[in-house]
Amino acid sequence: MEILFVEPQYYSKYPPLGLLKLASYHRSRGDKISLVRGLEQNLNTDPDIVYITSLFTFAWAPVHKAIEYYQKKFPGTKISVGGLYASIMPDRVKFHYPFVDVHVGLHESAEQYMPAYDILNTVEKWKNWDSSILFSTRGCIRNCPFCVVPKLEGKIRVSISDVQNFIHPDHKQVILWDNNFLASPQWRKTIIDLKETGLKIDFNQGLDARLMDEEKAQHIADLNMPTIRMAYDFKDEKAAVERAVEHLEEAGIRRRKILFYTLFNFYNPGNEYGDTPESFLEIIQDIANLGCVSYPMRYEPITSLKKNQFVSPLWAPEQLEAIADARRVIGFGGAFPPYQGLVDKFASAKTFDEAFKLRPKQSKDDASKSMNKGLEQDTSTCSGDTVSPSYS
Ligand code: SF4
Repeated sequence: MEILFVEPQYYSKYPPLGLLKLASYHRSRGDKISLVRGLEQNLNTDPDIVYITSLFTFAWAPVHKAIEYYQKKFPGTKISVGGLYASIMPDRVKFHYPFVDVHVGLHESAEQYMPAYDILNTVEKWKNWDSSILFSTRGCIRNCPFCVVPKLEGKIRVSISDVQNFIHPDHKQVILWDNNFLASPQWRKTIIDLKETGLKIDFNQGLDARLMDEEKAQHIADLNMPTIRMAYDFKDEKAAVERAVEHLEEAGIRRRKILFYTLFNFYNPGNEYGDTPESFLEIIQDIANLGCVSYPMRYEPITSLKKNQFVSPLWAPEQLEAIADARRVIGFGGAFPPYQGLVDKFASAKTFDEAFKLRPKQSKDDASKSMNKGLEQDTSTCSGDTVSPSYS
């Protein structure tokens, strides 16, 4: 059989991992596989099946375009749509396109295959991709109300016992996409195996500060990562966050290399609970006082069809914009590093508006200069990556 794999033309920093695993699965059965991104005109295949993946729900439009394009190009051919958007809103996809198969969740039969990284060479955007991406676990021990993982993947389970079998021999870096790596029953073995590869390691998702202890901190430090990412979303995590920072520092990691993702604009109508500008400021102040980097993450409802439309009833739109502006103007790579100027600005602020108020007509260069005056430039690589789940 001939199988065509389609990654719609949405923004993504990472290649479509789920499709690549599914491609390997089909290749192992003797099928001819090919990968395209977007609406490809020059196709050298007459496929028996077209697999189209999807990502965040607000990136639905390129997925719909791909369905329409390939259905027209190959009328009568089976089209299967999977990925995150299709898994979260299968009825919406089916409503618009009754002729497609919608696949919800992971393709379990493909999970144990090494992704077919070689076919990335046929797609301009991914030609020089040199990193192996893997989930050593799926699921999570927690049930955070803003997170889709427990709903789609359930309780934590080990998905790969020997990570070295899933690292491509030509790759220079390993990226882990585990949702809650420190909760893995085999976190120790995985870290030791990763260290033995001698490759650059990146835990792309935030580590759970509540699970950090002395031993874990030492193993994490042994991996020599440029940035340690954790999460500090709600005030009741403060004590755990402080302990985690102390453990990491004792293990030899400089505080300015520790980055905390901080959620804001979350609201649960069920119990009318959510963060507020004041609670967000307190968290930003805590992180600044700890000498660490904060990386604000604006909450998007799981079924959001348009990015940045949702405004929590506990926030005003101008306050959300103020954070976006501050990240651009006085932040660095979207984050707030512990530059003395920034730490002082946040520490002395009595209110959210005072902390995030920017001087009028201040250019980005001027603002950065005033914040960084006399200070060492932070060399951390705060990327604020968002994960591209590997559903296909
Ligand atoms: S936010 Fe993190 S810790 Fe919470 S449920 Fe999701 S993956 Fe687990």
